[in-house]
Amino acid sequence: MKYQVPVCVCGNALRYEKEMTIERIHRITKHGKISKRYSSKDNPLHPLEYLLCDSCSKRFEVDYDERDRIVCGELRF
Ligand SMILES: [Zn+2]
Repeated sequence: MKYQVPVCVCGNALRYEKEMTIERIHRITKHGKISKRYSSKDNPLHPLEYLLCDSCSKRFEVDYDERDRIVCGELRF
């Protein structure tokens, strides 16, 4: 089946959007303050991804077809 690029209900082509979460981990100093130094890591456990319409700002779930191609899922909000 020919692949159709996902489009919004308004007819605009959707964009893929991913929100990355970065965790910062600080040590607590012996004075009870948060250390200025920290280590950070990406949190890949809960990436938030959407298909976003930049015309009307609707967001849809990201879905995949049987050949792992991105298709439009349910309307998110
Ligand atoms: Zn739209």
